[in-house]
Amino acid sequence: MKRKVKTAGNTPVHTDSIEERARQLKYAEQVQVIGQIHDSVTTTDLEGKIISWNPGSEKMFGYTAEEAIGQSITMLYAPEDFPELRKYVPILMEKGVHNGEANLLKKNGERIPVSFSLSLLKDGSGMPIGIVGINQDDSQRKKNERILQEQKEILYYQAHHDMLTGLPNRLLFFERLEEGIREQKAQIGILFIDLDKFKHINDSLGHEIGDRVLNLVAERLKRTMGEENILARLSGDEFTILMPRLGKAEEASSLAQRILHNLMEPMPIDNHIFYISGSIGISLYPRDAQDAYSLLKYADTAMYKAKEGGRNRYRFYTSDMTADALARMTLTTQLRQALDHGEFTVHYQPQFDLSEKRSMGLEALVRWKHPERGLLCPDAFLSVAEDTGMIMEIDQWVMETAMAQVSQWYRAGLRPGLLALNLSIRQLENDRFLPLLKTCLERYDFDPEWLELEITEGQMMRKTEEVIEKLDRISALGIGISIDDFGTGYSSLSLLKRLPIKRLKIDRSFIRNIPDDEEDIAIVQAVLALAKSLKLGVVAEGVETEAQKDFLYANGCMQIQGYYFSHPLSGEETERILEESRAAGQAEKPL
Ligand code: C2E
Ligand code: MG
Ligand code: MG
Repeated sequence: MKRKVKTAGNTPVHTDSIEERARQLKYAEQVQVIGQIHDSVTTTDLEGKIISWNPGSEKMFGYTAEEAIGQSITMLYAPEDFPELRKYVPILMEKGVHNGEANLLKKNGERIPVSFSLSLLKDGSGMPIGIVGINQDDSQRKKNERILQEQKEILYYQAHHDMLTGLPNRLLFFERLEEGIREQKAQIGILFIDLDKFKHINDSLGHEIGDRVLNLVAERLKRTMGEENILARLSGDEFTILMPRLGKAEEASSLAQRILHNLMEPMPIDNHIFYISGSIGISLYPRDAQDAYSLLKYADTAMYKAKEGGRNRYRFYTSDMTADALARMTLTTQLRQALDHGEFTVHYQPQFDLSEKRSMGLEALVRWKHPERGLLCPDAFLSVAEDTGMIMEIDQWVMETAMAQVSQWYRAGLRPGLLALNLSIRQLENDRFLPLLKTCLERYDFDPEWLELEITEGQMMRKTEEVIEKLDRISALGIGISIDDFGTGYSSLSLLKRLPIKRLKIDRSFIRNIPDDEEDIAIVQAVLALAKSLKLGVVAEGVETEAQKDFLYANGCMQIQGYYFSHPLSGEETERILEESRAAGQAEKPL
């Protein structure tokens, strides 16, 4: 800036006032500061013509000061942003400042996101003469924001999806269900799908195959369920489908049917072909419940009922299912207490040999002395005991108690004969069972030949491969093994040959209607023939009448158990009978 200098004689005299010099210095300082700033600082006149252009602007937009000064500031704006630009001046006139964000144009045509701050430049009298603009490069901030947003989205996705199948998980399912409930626009259907016997695939073929099966199942479900529904994987082999706009309940049942049908198509993986089936429970909003948690729980309850009904089927939830589930829960707690408080007892049902005309053994049958309900038979608690695993403790308690009792009778000179114990197949899957059995044999000085273990046909046929080896080891100890409830569980003949069994116990459902029912007669005769050819013994269960006994005798079935001869008896009653028969000199019970 030129200074006005007047000469007074030879000595130049600065006419500037001190304030003027101070202002000039400040201005020079500001110019320097602006020159150093990385941000773009520009000034324009009120028409937008560029008056100053700092190095920050050069760097940010690519125009040198020579190129920029004198140009219109509109060169930094894309035509579509002009209308926005035109709004700035009126705002500035009114408020004096205006802050905002814009996407400006660089010389090379690239866009650059900026945060800007505009303010009016005024002359000494306060008249607006131009506009000062400060632009801050937002590229990095925007990029960071974008990355943060992406990370948030990834985290959200991970928190709401199942990693194996990519399907929504429990959390997202609940969110969607709650959304639907909030909207209250339509009836909602919830399908709870659980694969039948999937654990078996996982356990026997490994998780890798298991995972592939799950992925294929997920695909089939997706294919079957239609666009508007939401499929989620809750955990393991549990899937749910949300039908947010359900017209009629039948739509849910027809979807369930289609799913069951499509699941059953053979599923080839590597060299295996899998046949999968599922069980489905359905609950409806608002009919069954008003909140997401209960709806899912009820669909789950209904699914269990479908499984109990024989798998590969669907069931709608009904309120008595909850009563049932509640009863099971109560029973579970009480059963636990029963174990702790020693509320079990063993009854013994004699088995008779028709040819020898005497009792040949006793089957131990557990009873629960329930504090309120009296003496309970196993049907009242066995399924809960199986489901909760408490059957292990119960069976082991029965085994010890009955072995102790029978060995004591032997030592007292009585003749209890063979002791038959019912075993849950779970015992054989437990590594502690065999050592426990051996310990009991030793502790009670129990001849293995006095012992027989009964496993139901249904349980045996489900787990064959795993248990054959264990059964062989038990049989090698000299303990007999029999198949209980025979005829109800679809044995395979080849398997029967491989199992180390001594006897078949014909289920009492086939005995009930002989000698009147032709079909039952044919079945009993077929079992007797089969046993003969496999050289197995046969016991007929549930013999209640003389006619049944006579029919069996005539057909060569000599071993018989049932009310006709004796109900199950308490330990004391059994002991009394054994003593009586000793007193009678082993006299036979008249047949
Ligand atoms: P099961 O092994 O087939 O035992 C025979 C069942 O039939 C017994 O029922 C017995 O009381 C009943 N019964 C015997 N004769 C007759 C008859 O003439 N007519 C009729 N209607 N029934 C007869 P219970 O004691 O109620 O036992 C039911 C089932 O519970 C048993 O069937 C057995 O599978 C299981 N069980 C019993 N005790 C135990 C145990 O300690 N452990 C395990 N795992 N299961 C057991
Ligand atoms: Mg039995
Ligand atoms: Mg039976």
